[in-house]
Amino acid sequence: MTIDTAKLGWNFDNTYSRLPEKLYSTIDPNPVSSAKMIIFNHSLAESLGLNGEALQEEEGLAVLAGNEVPPEGASLAQAYAGHQFGGFTMLGDGRALLIGEQITPGGERFDIQLKGSGRTPYSRGGDGRAALGPMLREYIISEAMHGLGIPTTRSLAVVTTGERIMRERLLPGAIMTRVASSHLRVGTFQYAANWGSVEELRALADYAIERHYPEIGKVEERYLDFFKAVMKRQAALIAKWQLVGFIHGVMNTDNMTISGDTIDYGPCAFMDVYDPKTVFSSIDAQGRYAYENQPRIGGWNLARFAEALLPLLHQEQEKAVEIAQEALYEYSGLYKSHWLAGMRAKLGIFNEEKEDEALIDELLGLMKEHSADFTNTFRMLTLDNTMDALSGKPEFDAWHGKWQTRLERQQESKEAVHTLMKRSNPAVIPRNHRVEAALEAAVEFGNYGVMENLLKILKYPFAHTEEQEDYCAVPGDSAGDYRTYCGT
Ligand code: AMP
Ligand code: MG
Repeated sequence: MTIDTAKLGWNFDNTYSRLPEKLYSTIDPNPVSSAKMIIFNHSLAESLGLNGEALQEEEGLAVLAGNEVPPEGASLAQAYAGHQFGGFTMLGDGRALLIGEQITPGGERFDIQLKGSGRTPYSRGGDGRAALGPMLREYIISEAMHGLGIPTTRSLAVVTTGERIMRERLLPGAIMTRVASSHLRVGTFQYAANWGSVEELRALADYAIERHYPEIGKVEERYLDFFKAVMKRQAALIAKWQLVGFIHGVMNTDNMTISGDTIDYGPCAFMDVYDPKTVFSSIDAQGRYAYENQPRIGGWNLARFAEALLPLLHQEQEKAVEIAQEALYEYSGLYKSHWLAGMRAKLGIFNEEKEDEALIDELLGLMKEHSADFTNTFRMLTLDNTMDALSGKPEFDAWHGKWQTRLERQQESKEAVHTLMKRSNPAVIPRNHRVEAALEAAVEFGNYGVMENLLKILKYPFAHTEEQEDYCAVPGDSAGDYRTYCGT
């Protein structure tokens, strides 16, 4: 089949394939028997300049299933390494194919990657495939994150392959089309630093700077500026996760982007009841990636990034280490200021007072003590409604009084406070029981309506509409036992 690239709206470039060959492997597509469109993201397609209708027909489907690569596109798997739960390993795209970089009508560049597209030189014993459930899960949660205003990779489509893949049982195989401002990871730099030359590492850094931080320019300390810029974006990103109760679940260095976008929706989930120790991932027995640890792990991963960049920071290693340490020192303050600013907004606070942090901590302490739902507590404060877990509790009433007094000390009107809180506190998050119900209907019964309705609700989480009310309900007692899984 010859692919009419222009008809489908593809406008591909291939800068990654012009990087040193060590950084990727060119691979042939792995055709599948019969591709079927399960879900397609029309608004994303439009913003990318793609022809949504044509992409769902035979030719388009052939591309989204990895059966055909448009001639102008790429067909490569990226090499990377990573610290997985603290241990360093060689990884790479074991089941993903970069099919090109789409240049949008607005001139932006996005990687188009198929996930679940078959084996690559980096597959290590894996089958290179993905099951329908986990791909739909990534679709739902990444789109929910986008709705929440959190930088993230996006999901263009999920197709089934017509093949069954073996997991704990036979499951329908699927391929998700992931859209990312790039797939550069901390682990990409670790790979280059470990197995490449300094020139190759420099080429990768120059590429990342040009793609994500062009404002840095050709100044003398550009690699230090680059490190600091990534650190700033990650500090802001992780603060955003904390502010909505998002738990990534597998913050390995290969799952931390250089762009500052959230990537790799494996065992992630949103917290219901507020408990800083919450962990959902079945393999995270030690709680390394628990909610409360995410900011610190972000710092740990950035230290690994700095290590990879050392040869570019200074010729003498000792000096380079000093430079890196000094830069890293800023991370916790940066994170804290983003988190504080976000928490103030969640409470309708416009200006800064020293005591704000104590006020915030006191509320969080009460939420933990009384097992209050994270999202609904802030939602109820926003709507001035009573709260199941907290209302009637004298300590909460006392806190509420202090909070009201704090709000009275600022100039802004009640309306302004309400507007700020509405903008800062989502009515809906992709609650685990809702996501599971959508996936069960889709995978077990071929009923995609439940998922489509959920996606519609999650698109505008700050709308606070009546139809969202249903989706605000907290799950039953078994919620604490919710378990998520990696790489399935
Ligand atoms: P993840 O847990 O998705 O971050 O994946 C970690 C590593 O395992 C990456 O190198 C993936 O490409 C690889 N991987 C995950 N699942 C598979 C699979 N089914 N086949 C081959 N490689 C895989
Ligand atoms: Mg990964």
